Amino acid sequence: MSGAITLYAHETPGFGDRAAHAADLLRAAATQHPGRIVLASSLGAEDMVLTDLVARERLPIAVATLQTGKLHAQTLALVQRAKLHYGLDIELHEPRTEAVVHFVQRHGDDAMRRSVELRKACCALRKLEPLERLLAGRTAWVTGLRREQSGARADVPFSDIDEHGRTKLSPLADWSWHDVWHYIATREVPYNPLHDEFMPSIGCEPCTRAIAVGEDFRSGRWWWEHDDAKECGLHVKPQGGEAPASAFGRSQEESVQGVTP
Ligand code: SF4
Repeated sequence: MSGAITLYAHETPGFGDRAAHAADLLRAAATQHPGRIVLASSLGAEDMVLTDLVARERLPIAVATLQTGKLHAQTLALVQRAKLHYGLDIELHEPRTEAVVHFVQRHGDDAMRRSVELRKACCALRKLEPLERLLAGRTAWVTGLRREQSGARADVPFSDIDEHGRTKLSPLADWSWHDVWHYIATREVPYNPLHDEFMPSIGCEPCTRAIAVGEDFRSGRWWWEHDDAKECGLHVKPQGGEAPASAFGRSQEESVQGVTP
């Protein structure tokens, strides 16, 4: 058995009910949003569970991910493995080349390490803008958010409406990390081998590190920043008032709620 499965897979009371509820939510959403619903996958453990739920029942839910240009080789390989395993198409949405080239020329390839603003600007052009294209024309999207993931996600509902009027579903909102890995272990779901190297939350390579025993799961992401800055803007709700500037001259950091762990 792999390291992550040995460490985390554990059946806890109510798992069957939570799994059935998640599948019910996906089934109902696929019916309510025919041809216009997408699983916005980060390729993290939760999103691989959701991919399995979609593929198992051949639900008409598209699966899409963001190829930021900074992903680990293991993450890119997982896209191919999942495609083969499920016989599914997985859409890849990339940032605009000219925006990336301009940003790197101006701020350097390590800009994200130099300030929170530059890190958020990098996330804006590599994640938020492609996410807008991923969601264009869709009326509903599915995410792998769980309440347990962080304090900022403690109140994640199963179903919400984003500020563009789309339904945002989080079928695993009430799942524990043990649930996720119990599902992966028992259904033989393909997953990122970096999870076996103590990386529970995997993002871009320069912004992800392994965590030590006892550290918070999110501590491996943007570890040089203060905790309350640690969201890429994909799942941040507008708080009202003036939103921060982004690389696009408007408030995408706070206005788009989307993919990723
Ligand atoms: S996670 Fe890091 S490399 Fe990826 S888009 Fe955000 S700042 Fe850039």
